[in-house]
Amino acid sequence: MIYKRSSELFKEAQKVIPGGVNSPVRAFKAVGGDPIFIKKAEGAYLFDEDGNKLIEYINSWGPMILGHAHKPVVDAVVERAKQGTSFGTPTGLETKIAELAVKMVPNIDKIRMVNSGTEACMSAVRLARGFTGKEKIIKFAGCYHGHSDSFLIQAGSGAMTFGMPNSPGVTRGTAKDTLLAKYNDLENVKHLVEANKGEIACIILEPVAGNMGCIPPVEGFLEGLRKICDETGILLIFDEVMTGFRLAAGGVQERMGVKADILCFGKVIGGGLPVGAFAARNEIMDYLAPVGPVYQAGTLSGNPLAMAAGYTMLKELHDNPNIFESIDKKTEYLHKGLDKVLKENHVPHSINRIGSMISVHFGEDAVTDFESSAKSASNGMFNKFFHGMLQNGIYLAPSAFETWFISEALTYDDLDKTIEAAGIAAKEL
Ligand SMILES: *Cc1c(COP(=O)(O)O)cnc(C)c1O
Repeated sequence: MIYKRSSELFKEAQKVIPGGVNSPVRAFKAVGGDPIFIKKAEGAYLFDEDGNKLIEYINSWGPMILGHAHKPVVDAVVERAKQGTSFGTPTGLETKIAELAVKMVPNIDKIRMVNSGTEACMSAVRLARGFTGKEKIIKFAGCYHGHSDSFLIQAGSGAMTFGMPNSPGVTRGTAKDTLLAKYNDLENVKHLVEANKGEIACIILEPVAGNMGCIPPVEGFLEGLRKICDETGILLIFDEVMTGFRLAAGGVQERMGVKADILCFGKVIGGGLPVGAFAARNEIMDYLAPVGPVYQAGTLSGNPLAMAAGYTMLKELHDNPNIFESIDKKTEYLHKGLDKVLKENHVPHSINRIGSMISVHFGEDAVTDFESSAKSASNGMFNKFFHGMLQNGIYLAPSAFETWFISEALTYDDLDKTIEAAGIAAKEL
């Protein structure tokens, strides 16, 4: 495949946009080469500026669980746009999506809409601090919660890909309130809690990690965190920006049966438009302005176009629960196929999968935390594999630390083509 026009567009973009991209993960800096510029998308396919048709596993980094340009979502947005694109006043549509989200997600009474996952996590932590009157937070190495200051400490895929886990520009004052724990290590969390007794507002985590590859929690990890929080009055925040409305209609809480105090959403909830949200039970949510003292706001929050897309997406998932089973099966099929061709070609690998999230790590060891993920990513095999796949029309996220997202639009024929391409790419490794 030829990517000439994309390279030209990238040259032009670099003159006026830092690095030519509006989000670092879109650059090919880690894997080498120029990023691909997309013209349009449909279902499981991207069509780029050179006229290539690519089977793709980025899916806008998660939102497009039903595939691109899903007709009901597109129709809802177009219809809504004709009636005005933003009012800065309440609309009935906001209540409709809130009612539906509260129905789908366990343990929440109220939800507030924002414009991104970053905003959702930032606001959730402010709310936790306001509610508890404590200042410190615990986060896990390799977990990503958006790019707000408190979280840019060992922050997962984007930052890791570019070798800058901790960003300049974050003050020491902010950094000292973020305590860093090891994912899947309960003892480590217990030590941190003990050493900072009475000072911790919340523990925030991806309940299934997706930003250091896909790393499911080991048995008892989430339950153990719940217990620690119950015993100490620390709030447990599940950042379900990636997993919400993907691993089940009710996210990880439903799938794994562990309750969080505050939930963060993004990605799928916006149906491909810029939406984030955070939610909790009444007692906590009523701490927010204008009812309570914790301030949080947004000019475009609850934007009618975004709500039309989000509502339509959630309604599709709510009304067709078999979708979750169907994408899980497709992901399992892909897992088995990839495993087979990598084995046949004697490529050391370990594949992590839960539901429709999957990641391939090129190393023998199991990947259970940030360290083991970074180790498997460091041998350069992923970069070769990435380009091998691309040459065969398969577009993976350009980083060894990213989860592959499976969409319902992928057919078994697409999956077979992917597995075949992986076999060809594996031969070159
Ligand atoms: C993507 C992501 C975010 C950030 O969301 P944005 O919409 O990119 O700001 C936060 N948390 C998790 C778990 C994510 O995957």
